[in-house]
Amino acid sequence: MKTYSIAAIPGDGIGTEVVACGLQVLDAIAKRDGSFKFKFDHFDWGGEYYKKHGRMMPVDGRDQIRKHDAILFGSAGHPEIPDHITLWGLRLAICQPFDQYANVRPTRVLPGITSPLRNVKDKELDWVIVRENSEGEYAGVGGRVHQGSPLEAATDVAMFTRPGVERIMRFAFRLAQSRPRKHLTVVTKSNAQRHAMVMWDEIATEVAAGFKDVTWDKMLVDAMTVRMVMRPETLDTIVATNLHADILSDLAAALAGSLGIAPTANLNPERKFPSMFEPIHGSAFDIMGKGVANPIGTFWSAVMMLDHVGERVAAGRLMRAIERVTADKRLHTPDLGGTARTADVTAAVVDAIHGANA
Ligand code: ATP
Repeated sequence: MKTYSIAAIPGDGIGTEVVACGLQVLDAIAKRDGSFKFKFDHFDWGGEYYKKHGRMMPVDGRDQIRKHDAILFGSAGHPEIPDHITLWGLRLAICQPFDQYANVRPTRVLPGITSPLRNVKDKELDWVIVRENSEGEYAGVGGRVHQGSPLEAATDVAMFTRPGVERIMRFAFRLAQSRPRKHLTVVTKSNAQRHAMVMWDEIATEVAAGFKDVTWDKMLVDAMTVRMVMRPETLDTIVATNLHADILSDLAAALAGSLGIAPTANLNPERKFPSMFEPIHGSAFDIMGKGVANPIGTFWSAVMMLDHVGERVAAGRLMRAIERVTADKRLHTPDLGGTARTADVTAAVVDAIHGANA
């Protein structure tokens, strides 16, 4: 029997609650399938680890997870630790050296979920956002000088390289090509950012020439927010820079009903390193420990993980189980306007996996 080794890094806040549920659901889907199983290794990295050791993960942390088939991540964030330390110390400390340059974020209004967009009909909002995940505004280039003096200055340089842009464009065009609509929207800001974003546009045009069957258009990021709200049905696959896609995908998650539903995959498409799967929400300390966190974002991330390791049938089965559960409003957590608890949703998804039509 095939065994997939999974590094589980729950992190902080509700990350610990939803990852535990994600592992239960993965075990259930493996049992239902019968042809593979999981071996989970648990890593207690994050804010609490930082308080004990002064760092978010051990010095050799990456070596401990380098050989795993995939990583299931919760969230990093701690009320007593600045966000840039938790982000750079754990999530980015894994994503960047593991060259997980393609961050894929599907957005759909699942059955039973109400979008805040009044008139959006079924299937009118079905997007995949591809976020460039290795450079741009999050390249880590910059500095701060003269701290404490009136001359203090700081820079964050958005760095774009030709190979970095080419590979994300190719990835996005290929993904668009694999979807029924075969349409890609390239998000840019080349009117104001006249160097890197102009190169970004030029490379998009060059790469597009190799994908004649994909239609594509270009949108300024500000206009893109309007189009997402006013004409969601005109969008399908979307590619944007690290920062632009970070913002747009939170908007997308909200338009699909809740931040608690949205999944993401940090992919190293060449498979030289493990890829990492996580809900897009953060640690949500306001609801931590209350047992009401929505675990659907983590379950949907588990679907993406199954797909990535090649278990397509199990991925489809888990997605159907999720959709059967969201369709039942009695199983909605408070973020969706319901009263269900994390454990209720998890039990229902496990039941649906084993159900007659699964
Ligand atoms: P971080 O700083 O780690 O990004 P945050 O608390 O600032 O965390 P998020 O966790 O992304 O931001 O979410 C913002 C709000 O959305 C939370 O305060 C919470 O109320 C709600 N929320 C997010 N995820 C979920 C979830 N899975 N279930 C229910 N509510 C959620």
